[in-house]
Amino acid sequence: MQEVDVIVAGAGLWGCTVARVLAEAGRKVLVLEKRDVVGGNVRCATDPETGIEVHTYGSHIFHTHLDDVWNFVRRFVAFNGYQHKVLARYNGKTYFLPLGLTLVNQFYGLDLTPAELPAFIRAEAAKAPATDGAVNFETQAISFVGKPLYDAFIREYTRKQWGTDPKNLSADIIRRLPVRASYDVNYFPDYRQGIPLSGYNSLFDRLLDHPNVSVRCRTGFHFGTVAELGLPAATPVFYSGPVDALFDYRFGALPWRSLRFETARVAVPDFQGTSVVNYTGAEVPYTRIHEFKHYHPEDRAVMEAPSTIVCREYPKTWQPGDEPYYPVDTAASRELLARYRAEAAKTPNLIVGGRLGGYRYYDMDRSIGNALETAAAFLER
Ligand code: UDP
Repeated sequence: MQEVDVIVAGAGLWGCTVARVLAEAGRKVLVLEKRDVVGGNVRCATDPETGIEVHTYGSHIFHTHLDDVWNFVRRFVAFNGYQHKVLARYNGKTYFLPLGLTLVNQFYGLDLTPAELPAFIRAEAAKAPATDGAVNFETQAISFVGKPLYDAFIREYTRKQWGTDPKNLSADIIRRLPVRASYDVNYFPDYRQGIPLSGYNSLFDRLLDHPNVSVRCRTGFHFGTVAELGLPAATPVFYSGPVDALFDYRFGALPWRSLRFETARVAVPDFQGTSVVNYTGAEVPYTRIHEFKHYHPEDRAVMEAPSTIVCREYPKTWQPGDEPYYPVDTAASRELLARYRAEAAKTPNLIVGGRLGGYRYYDMDRSIGNALETAAAFLER
C-alpha cells in the first residue's frame, strides 16, 4: 500500500476537484470510485460511428459567473464557446425559451417592446382566477406569468418532471420565474459558457493526472474501507456518494427523481436542428429530446456525419438501483437530510459533499466551487 494522506470517495466533479487541490498542496490522495470509470454523471461516451460525444447521463453544459471556478477549470480544458439555447415544442409550434420577448410575442402574436412586456405580463397574471388562498407551485407560477403561459410551458412539463400535479409541489421550487424583457434567448445568464473542446472525459483525466493522486475504480466506500486498506483510522475521507447509503439508510431513503434515457441513432445528419427541445405538452411522455452533435459546432466531421444520436428523457420515481438525479425537496426530506448530516458530523475526519453527498441539485460550476472551498478549508485547519 502506497502512502495515503487522504481518501476521496467518489470521482465526480466534486471529488476530482478536491483530489486535485489536495494533491497540489502536497497530500497523497487515493481516489476510490464505485463505477468502472471516473467522471460521475458528467461522464460521456464517444459514438464510434460518428465521433459524437454522447452525454450518457443527460446534457451537461458548463456555465458560470464564478471567477475562481472559471479560472480553475480552464487550467485543464479549453471551452468551445457553445451558448445554450432551449426550444420548447407546444401544440405543434416551436418556441425559444426562456419566457421573454421572443416567446411571448410569438405566443400571443404581439410585437411588445422591452418597456411594454412587464406591464403585459402583470395584466395577464391579474386575470388568473382567484384561488382559495393556497400557495403552491401552480398558484405561484400563475401569479408570475399568467395562466396561458403557465398552461402551455410549465404545467405539464413540471407534472412530467416531478410525477405529481404541480398543485402538490412547493412554491419554493419557483421562488422566482424570471421573464426576460429582451430578445436574449441564451438559456443561462452566464456569458462564460461552453463544452470542453477535448471532451468532458479529458477534464477528469487531467484533474487526476498528478503524481500525488492514485485512482482505484470498482471500489465503493463504506466505513470498513479505511481499515481494509490498512490505513490509519484517522485518515480523512471526502465522501461524495449518497449520504443515506453511507449510513445504510438507517433513517430511511432520501427521495430522488430519477431519469430513464432512450438513446437512438437516426440516419439523418440533423434531427431537430438544435441540442435540446423541451416537450411541454402532455401528449408525449418524455420531457425533452437531446441531440448531442449540436454541442460541438466547431467539429465539422461530427456536424456533417450522415447520422445523429438523439436521446429522449423520461423522468421517473427513484427506486433502489436507479441513478439518483434530482433531490425531492419537501419538509420530510429536509428533516431526513438533517438527521444524516448530524450523523456524518459525529464521525471524525469525514467530510461529506458533492451533489449526492450534499443532496443538492448542483450545477457543475457550483459543485467545483464547493469543492474548492471545502478543500481550502481542510488545508487551513
Ligand atoms: N420548467 C418548465 N418548463 C420547461 C422547462 C422547465 O416548467 O420547459 C420548470 C420545471 O418545473 C423544471 C424547472 O423549470 O423542473 C427547472 O428546469 P430546468 O430546465 O432549469 O432544469 P434542468 O433539469 O435542465 O436542470
